[in-house]
Amino acid sequence: MNDISNAVTFDALKSLKKTARMPVLFLGHGSPMNAIEDNEYRRSWQALGAEFGVKWPKPQLILCVSAHWLTKGWWLTAMASPKTIHDFGGFPKALFDQQYPAPGFPEAAQEISQTVRQPGSAQPLSLDWQEWGLDHGAWSVLKPMFPQADIAVVQLSMDYSRPPAEHYALGQQLRGLRQQGVLIVGSGNIVHNLRTMQAGAASNHTFEWALEFDKTIADYLHNGEHAALQDFQNLGAVAQQAHPTHEHFLPLFYAAGAVGATETPRFFNTSFQAASISMRSVIWG
Ligand code: ZN
Repeated sequence: MNDISNAVTFDALKSLKKTARMPVLFLGHGSPMNAIEDNEYRRSWQALGAEFGVKWPKPQLILCVSAHWLTKGWWLTAMASPKTIHDFGGFPKALFDQQYPAPGFPEAAQEISQTVRQPGSAQPLSLDWQEWGLDHGAWSVLKPMFPQADIAVVQLSMDYSRPPAEHYALGQQLRGLRQQGVLIVGSGNIVHNLRTMQAGAASNHTFEWALEFDKTIADYLHNGEHAALQDFQNLGAVAQQAHPTHEHFLPLFYAAGAVGATETPRFFNTSFQAASISMRSVIWG
């Protein structure tokens, strides 16, 4: 496999100190309301965040790949103070009132952008100094995890027009950041079909095709079958139903790429929200 062919070294980084290896996370984010509702998902994020500084070092930087930032080419946020983006509609004012004032990290963003190459073009990552910020895919999970907002966050965008293998390849390039105190977080959902949602459905209620896709992906991850993961569209109808559009699935490729096939994942939040959103989340490390 091409497991290490995309490896890059971040030894020359000046802005980030070497650390023990950080875990890698894929978080199913589901409804934006999970950011403020007291439910099993938000409680799991609170508990997970509390493990940093105990089980793992406190991150020097969080690099988040959210389903909600799609661009032409790949971009990294580089502003000093990323704004909180309320990129949703039809939710209560309490959700729009949420702010997550975590700082950015312009120096680290510049250094990372120069080290990582965009798949296909081999260009450095483009730097976004003012457009984006933190969308709800990032802040809805990070705010419960790190409520003090004292850890710098950068977001990496995704070029939806590019094939899954390129997203995975970019994730592979991020691997060395784990030894530089960077917590890599993919935020999406392993099953995400908004057309078949049933608001208020019990967390054990879902569809056959959703269960099948969710289990197949969990098996791929457990077995380190990352080539099969990248070929998920070959699963046919169940893949189509699980992801009428697959932007919520792609963040998983960055997390899996940053880990490689030999580390065994642990799963949590293995239930469904609104019947057709898998909240299955993954920790490696
Ligand atoms: Zn989402």
